[in-house]
Amino acid sequence: MRSKTTVALITGGSRGLGRDMALRLAEKGIDVILTYNSNKTEADHVVAAIKAAGRQAAAFQLDTGDTASFDAFIRQVTGYLEQETGSPNIDFLINNAGIGLNKPFAETSEEAFDTIVNIHFKGVYFLTQKALPFINDGGRIINISSGLARFSFPGNSVYAAAKGAVEVLTRYLAKELGARRIAVNTVAPGAIATDFGGGRTRDNKEVNAQIAGVTALGRAGEAEDIGGVVAFLCSPEAGWINAQRIEVSGGMMI
Ligand code: NAP
Repeated sequence: MRSKTTVALITGGSRGLGRDMALRLAEKGIDVILTYNSNKTEADHVVAAIKAAGRQAAAFQLDTGDTASFDAFIRQVTGYLEQETGSPNIDFLINNAGIGLNKPFAETSEEAFDTIVNIHFKGVYFLTQKALPFINDGGRIINISSGLARFSFPGNSVYAAAKGAVEVLTRYLAKELGARRIAVNTVAPGAIATDFGGGRTRDNKEVNAQIAGVTALGRAGEAEDIGGVVAFLCSPEAGWINAQRIEVSGGMMI
């Protein structure tokens, strides 16, 4: 990476929404550090696509549910950036990585609860805390929530509650980090046709039709509906947007 470059760190950039965010940010001239949990090959494809488009990119392994690994991860990323750009800092942190859990409340085990809360809330909390010294003043943090934090579909109690926690956290971060001119916002996608949740929205015709039926714009979302919004929130024009929950759902469940 060249010096004075603008850098975004996206968790879960190997597939789905994170992949689209990475590509859209690169189109806007931003270099990208993305993470994957287990799919190195997919992550490498995203890195190659960004490089082919003329920006710099690198992929690092990270399990956002494993807070004990965060210090080493931050050292790895900042060491890489220092070497490539002369500065360990990033401009944008996008907390996107995650998995779904579709289980009725009565059948949700403590183990499953911990897995979801660790990835979607505890991980977001402490990764942001550890990254904070390396986010440039005037930077941005974007936390990915879900429409499910506003409306309720049975079987999503832990997942949606963890996303709700992230939405509250977003407002607190915005308040506390304002002194450093760091804007913090939530993007809450509706149901999107990705691998997420076993690919239900994309592959299950009934589920897909049900979602289309409760969405004002008449279809389920695609990854391409989301990345550009995140890229916009990282643009100079969006600098005054702060502490907001921006739902990107085509008008789902209104
Ligand atoms: P996806 O296509 O399944 O991709 C998930 C991404 O997160 C992958 O890059 C994956 O890495 C990574 N990841 C999974 N578990 C991880 C872990 N423990 N630690 C670190 N990275 C991990 O999912 P998506 O649809 O893009 O979802 C992205 C975000 O949007 C999630 O936060 C999700 O809750 C949210 N969201 C999704 C929908 C939807 O309907 N799709 C709706 C609302 C909100 P690997 O490739 O290595 O597995």
